[in-house]
Amino acid sequence: MKSMMLVVALLMGTAGQAQTIVYTAARMLDVASGQMIEQPVIVAENGRITGVGRQGQLAVPDGRRVDLGNVTLLPGLIDMHVHLSSDPTLSGMQALRYPASFWTAIGVAMAGKTLAAGFTTVRNVGSANFDDVGLKLAIERGSVPGPRIVPATYAIGATGGHCDNNALPAEYGYDRRGIADGPEALRAKVRELHKYGAEVIKFCATGGVLSLGTSVGAQQLSLAEMTALVEEAHMLGLKVAAHAHGTAGIKTAIRAGVDTVEHASFADAEAIDLAKKAGTWFSMDIYNDDYILAEGAKNGLDEQNLAKEREVGLRQRQAFQAAWRAGVKMVFGSDAGVYPHGDNARQFAKMVEWGMTPIDAIRAATIKAAEALGREGDVGQIAPGRMADMIGVAGDPSRDVASLRDVKIVIKGGVLMKDAR
Ligand SMILES: [Zn+2]
Repeated sequence: MKSMMLVVALLMGTAGQAQTIVYTAARMLDVASGQMIEQPVIVAENGRITGVGRQGQLAVPDGRRVDLGNVTLLPGLIDMHVHLSSDPTLSGMQALRYPASFWTAIGVAMAGKTLAAGFTTVRNVGSANFDDVGLKLAIERGSVPGPRIVPATYAIGATGGHCDNNALPAEYGYDRRGIADGPEALRAKVRELHKYGAEVIKFCATGGVLSLGTSVGAQQLSLAEMTALVEEAHMLGLKVAAHAHGTAGIKTAIRAGVDTVEHASFADAEAIDLAKKAGTWFSMDIYNDDYILAEGAKNGLDEQNLAKEREVGLRQRQAFQAAWRAGVKMVFGSDAGVYPHGDNARQFAKMVEWGMTPIDAIRAATIKAAEALGREGDVGQIAPGRMADMIGVAGDPSRDVASLRDVKIVIKGGVLMKDAR
């Protein structure tokens, strides 16, 4: 039987996956119940979990035994908002000096850092050159290490808006591929990006902090435009993420039917109420303000960007607290790329500081994120049927979320990707 499995594994070309593995560890945090399970045992077959229980209580099949030692296991983390091919230390005009191939290479390096930090799934909500599609394919083949990627490819937006690049004068003739104006052009843009690999549609409903010449609070697409875009994406089976800081833009995006609102900085009571009633998720990047204000000038950001960040930071954290208290569904989205990749887990402490319990913050990055992705059958929980994506940390993250900043073990699809015990 053993040799038979080896033959099958070799035929599949994935000798590390096509087998039964029985994992044991000191503890496991069950994110659904919030309970700590002592002496857990997890069985994985061909990269998927087939059994979870307590050692001595769960009947386990023959297979390779892997004892992960004195760690607390929890599901691989999910970051709903990253830009893998961005480098925060190359911000502002200096970024224009680098060719497309440079950013693709950056994406490879940052995917590795993100995985090593315990994030086994990410939504890449905006990059150029379809580099997130190529990166995803290379990771899936096992050519380079990285998380599972849900690629958006280009962020869609209006001419001159936050998703455009407004740094260069007209004579340079710079056109960004994600730009479209008017309902029909936006529908066509969704179709085009879907054709070339987008698995989620990201668009800019309002201005933003790190673009030039945009007012962070100003709406940039009409209700008719957003509605057409969302309708088209949903028809293709894609979820839609709206970048929206300003109050009117947040409300219009929710009314247009988006699935997640990114940033949601100036969400007022009515916006919060609308989100709650529509079941719209908020993905609020409430850590990176600290980094941008401390490092932005040195990294090349323009003073107008820093002024916008000063306007947004505290307001966004207050809106996060109000939305959470009101019962809006929330996921973990960090905007890594505007601050260093690999530091994603720094946001957990901010989420706790602004109103979540540690287990709620962990759920936002596991079970809730999986639900918002529509992939709850695959990721976000250590449970039968889901991919064997697990991380191990010292201590108890349900008491101290800071322990998530030092991930000792990373397992993705049943393959041990990191062991730093
Ligand atoms: Zn972003």
